[in-house]
Amino acid sequence: MRVLITGVAGFIGSHLADRFLADGHEVIGMDNFITGDVANIAHVRNPRFSFVHYDVTNYIYVDGPLDAILHFASPASPIDYLEFPIQTLKVGSLGTHKALGLAKAKGAVFLLASTSEVYGDPLIHPQTEDYWGNVNPIGPRGVYDEAKRFAEAMTMAYHRAHGVPTRIVRIFNTYGPRMRVRDGRAVPNFISQALRNEEVTVYGDGSQTRSFCYVTDLVDGIARLLASDATGPVNIGNPAEMSVLSMAETIVRATGSRSRVVFRPLPVDDPKVRQPDISKARSVLGWEPRVRLEEGLKETIGYFRAKLGIPAAR
Ligand code: UDP
Repeated sequence: MRVLITGVAGFIGSHLADRFLADGHEVIGMDNFITGDVANIAHVRNPRFSFVHYDVTNYIYVDGPLDAILHFASPASPIDYLEFPIQTLKVGSLGTHKALGLAKAKGAVFLLASTSEVYGDPLIHPQTEDYWGNVNPIGPRGVYDEAKRFAEAMTMAYHRAHGVPTRIVRIFNTYGPRMRVRDGRAVPNFISQALRNEEVTVYGDGSQTRSFCYVTDLVDGIARLLASDATGPVNIGNPAEMSVLSMAETIVRATGSRSRVVFRPLPVDDPKVRQPDISKARSVLGWEPRVRLEEGLKETIGYFRAKLGIPAAR
C-alpha cells in the first residue's frame, strides 16, 4: 500500500510510520511540527518513506496514487489545547475535510484518529461506542472534544454521501516512548518528575481514573482496523483501569525515585472516570492489548532516561 500519515512526527504518528514501513508499505508523512518533533522520525532511513513539511488545514496535494490516509494530525495533550486552541479546532475540522477530500479523489481508505474525549466526562461506564457522550462545548477541552466530534461527523458524511471507505478509531489514554518530556499528560509528567526526583504532581485528589494502553498495542489495533471493513467507531484502549494517584505511585516505585507525590488543582472538566469497553475491537478485529503495565513503563522510563540524560539506577 501507499499510505499518507498526517501528524507523522507526533507520538502515535511516528510509531504508525515505523509499523507500516516494517510491514513493507510506502509511507508519505506530513507534519507542521506545532506539537510534532522531527526527532521522532529522524531514525527512519527507509527509501519507502518520504516527508512533507505541511499544515494539513490547507489544500493537500499528493502526487500519484494513495491506498490509505491515516489522519493523526492534532495537538493531543490538554496543555496543547490551551496553547493552540484554534489550531486544534482547525486541524480537526478543516484538516479532516481536506484529508477526506484527498481520500475521495484518490479512492483511498480514510482512517480518522478520534478519541475517548468524544465521551467527555462520561455518564456511563465503561464507555461503549454507542454512547453519545457528555461534553462541555465551551470549556477549555471543548476545542479538542468538539473538533474530534465534528471530524467523526464529517467522516461519516463522506462515507454516506460519497461512499468513501472510512474507519474511526477512538483512542483511549496511550503512553510510550516519544511522548515529549514537556507533554503535560500524566505519564510523561510523572516519569520526568520522578526521574529528576522532583515533586510528582497529581491533580485533584488523584481518585479520577484512566486506563492506559501501551503504544505498540494501540498501533496493532489501528493496523487491524484499517484492514477490516468496520466503518463506524471502534474503541482501542486498555481496559485495565486505575486511579491517577496509583499511576503516580507506580511510576515513583518503578523509577526508584525519591520524589514525593503532591496534589495540585484539578483542571476544568477533567473526566472523573474513563475505561474503554473493547468488546467490539475483540469481536470485529480479534484485538486486545498484550503489553503489561510494568513492561510498558519499563520501555517508557528507559526512553525518558535517555532523553533526560539520567543514567539507570544501579
Ligand atoms: N494529571 C495529573 N498530573 C499531571 C498530569 C495529569 O494528575 O501532572 C491527571 C489529569 O488531571 C487527569 C489524568 O491525570 O485526571 C490524565 O491526564 P492526561 O492529561 O494524561 O490525559 P486526559 O485523560 O485527561 O486527556
